[in-house]
Amino acid sequence: MPPEFPPADCSLYVHVPFCRSFCDYCDFYSVLLPPGGEGGALVERYLNTLAADARRLFERFPPVSVPTVYIGGGTPSVLGAEGIRRLFDALGELPGRDREWTVEANPESLDAEFLHACREAGVNRLSLGVQSFSPRLRALVHREGQALERALSLAARFFPRSFSADLMTGLPGQDRNGVLEDIARLLSFHPAHVSLYALTLEEGTPLWERAEEVPPRDSADSLWIAGRDALERSGYAQYEVSNFSPPGQESRHNLRYWGMKNWLALGPSGSGTLIDDRKGAGLRLNWPADLALWLAGEPERPGRLALENLDRLTLMKESLLMGFRLGRGPDAPLFKRRFGVSPEEAVPRTLAKWRGRGLVAAEGPALTREGLLFLNSFLVDVFEELDHPYPRAVLFEPR
Ligand code: SF4
Repeated sequence: MPPEFPPADCSLYVHVPFCRSFCDYCDFYSVLLPPGGEGGALVERYLNTLAADARRLFERFPPVSVPTVYIGGGTPSVLGAEGIRRLFDALGELPGRDREWTVEANPESLDAEFLHACREAGVNRLSLGVQSFSPRLRALVHREGQALERALSLAARFFPRSFSADLMTGLPGQDRNGVLEDIARLLSFHPAHVSLYALTLEEGTPLWERAEEVPPRDSADSLWIAGRDALERSGYAQYEVSNFSPPGQESRHNLRYWGMKNWLALGPSGSGTLIDDRKGAGLRLNWPADLALWLAGEPERPGRLALENLDRLTLMKESLLMGFRLGRGPDAPLFKRRFGVSPEEAVPRTLAKWRGRGLVAAEGPALTREGLLFLNSFLVDVFEELDHPYPRAVLFEPR
């Protein structure tokens, strides 16, 4: 079958849809992995389907090179050493070199054998979900993690200065000292990268029903800001809304999402995006967020992979939505190449208004450090202007 889209550099995301327990705030797609043989049989079916899907996907959309791979979830580490080896085999030989390979792991399911299997296969970055060192706070949101210190020591041993860890602010009962203590303890393991997430209440999650337990908005914001300042004081620069690292240690894979650079996806709920720079149009690839549906029938059954065309306006919105998350802002030359206008030309009124408030940098289209705190309100203005551009011809003239 000939390729359906111009081949290019294309990253890969693989979703592992299994967890050992559910955290109260989480709305990622996953199912509880049953213990024993039942769980083993489910993983076996998952890996076989993944291998068949990988073959078919790369035949249909053959990338010239795969610069980054991210195995996320769910909880990839519940696959264990043997399972993760099988997953790497399922992906086959990927084209290209100098690849960033990241695997996500949870402390309670991490062991030396798993890390050894990852390193042997070429994984060069580990992302560890810590969230908080406080057993009390973790218990309140049903977050496992009994063996945090052991897991961090293992991560530091197998991936010295090349592992990342997630922390969370705004957990029920959390205070400023707790946030600062979490950061100090994490940094004692010398991670290369830290993601500091402000807890968001997602509809449909158990925590959504107990919204009164989470700190009110103002205190939650000041907890996150205290965490940001502590990370920056320790040499971790904020390069994206929730992500911090010393220069050169940024997540290359996530930078490709924020830059809207092609990526393919595999696994239930996985979603990829391919963009034809010459046309300013794109294609979204969506796998069903339902393991039974994803596993059902023959792997070749048409329709399991849903394709959606992305028009120019949708892509412009997504490019700005993702690009303004970055401290350096959207990639202006790439934006111009794709859409025939620069970000400054696409949303001049919004940029002038926010620049006037000191929340957009004087040079270049990027939110300032303070401006990033107001990203959502800024994006409301961006979308409003893209929906009602003036003069219209600027955005909609034929290319
Ligand atoms: S372990 Fe991760 S994916 Fe699983 S429920 Fe908790 S936060 Fe969500």
